[in-house]
Amino acid sequence: MKIARYQADGGAQVGIVEDGVLYAASGDMFGTLTKGARVGGLDDVTLLTPVDPSKLVCVGLNYALHVTETDPNQQAPTEPVIFMKPLTSLLPHGGVIEMPPADRIDYEAELCIVIGKEAFRVSEADALSYVLGYTCGNDVSHRDYQRKDGQWVRAKGFNTFCPLGPVIETELDPGNVAVQSRLNGELRQNSHTKHLIFNIPFLLQFITNVMTLYPGDVIMTGTPEGVGPMQPGDTIEVEVEGIGVLRNTTKARG
Ligand code: MG
Repeated sequence: MKIARYQADGGAQVGIVEDGVLYAASGDMFGTLTKGARVGGLDDVTLLTPVDPSKLVCVGLNYALHVTETDPNQQAPTEPVIFMKPLTSLLPHGGVIEMPPADRIDYEAELCIVIGKEAFRVSEADALSYVLGYTCGNDVSHRDYQRKDGQWVRAKGFNTFCPLGPVIETELDPGNVAVQSRLNGELRQNSHTKHLIFNIPFLLQFITNVMTLYPGDVIMTGTPEGVGPMQPGDTIEVEVEGIGVLRNTTKARG
């Protein structure tokens, strides 16, 4: 099932997407959803981020070829490198990424996990039972500050630097999907989650050993090789096989 959140007269609503058509839904995203009336084509509605998380946990350096493109002398990490983005960085499908001054601000296509039930110290064996589904994310990164600062809060934390969506797919094998990005229609990243250094169950075990994850929390699982800069006026798309295409444009921050 594909779950979306959209803007309606009464505020944020949850819907179900089938064949590019959005239907209203009643019930609870984390429980049972029942399909209702047709709302419209997916391109004709205002989508919100597909979930409203309490936190965004991110994994860095989780594809070997991205580790070496970042620094040819860098070794792959022996444990996941985790960091967080603020909730104010969230941006829905169709939203505009606002670019502050920089020499280089990059896109990073990522498979994202959406948590379905409260998770603390879960085992790898049980980990996937805590997952509601998966969505696409763009871990937009200000490379000047990422290099300059000792940590990544500023580089990864600007408003609009976390596009997420368009939908949550609840039936997906997260270890077996292609991850791509396209800049102005041109393929830039083209990898597959079979190349993840740390797979989804391991990440869930590792992160929940540190912190409780709540329903709706999002884990960005890292980006593959092929990252590159965006310029104001660009269109950036992140596609994860089986989920959909997350499309955003960019502009210079006023
Ligand atoms: Mg990233």
